[in-house]
Amino acid sequence: MLRRQALGVPQVDAEVRQVATDMLRLMHEAPGVGLAAPQIGLPWRLFVANPTGDPADDRVYINPVLSKPVGPQQPYEEGCLSLPDIRVEVIRPFGITINALDINGQPFEAAADGLLARIWQHEFDHLNGRLIIDKMSRLDRVMNTKKIKGLELDYGMQG
Ligand code: ZN
Repeated sequence: MLRRQALGVPQVDAEVRQVATDMLRLMHEAPGVGLAAPQIGLPWRLFVANPTGDPADDRVYINPVLSKPVGPQQPYEEGCLSLPDIRVEVIRPFGITINALDINGQPFEAAADGLLARIWQHEFDHLNGRLIIDKMSRLDRVMNTKKIKGLELDYGMQG
């Protein structure tokens, strides 16, 4: 599931709202700052994010599209709830714009920089089957070799 291309959500109905609500709860319990539907076994273009942990900052992004990346390109060490114990320095643009539907199915646009922009990009990668281990430098690979091998055994991951 983590390697699949997720599919657009055709309509934001009660089931989708329930899944989004469950994902927000799971994200907080983890705890994490973001969670994408493929991480809970659903091939949907949907993720949730919260850069602060304050419930007032919970956000749901359905069928998100990213645009207008703003420099500079910045390195930052990311973790992933689907890849326990692995941290990878990932280079991404500092700012970005997102267009998505909210939990009520209403379209919105937002721009962010710093941590929130990074969360959007990390979770968006999940919708396209991309993981932080795809972005490892040679040094990161050496540092994480044992953990990745362990994951491949545990989950039968390819490559
Ligand atoms: Zn992740």
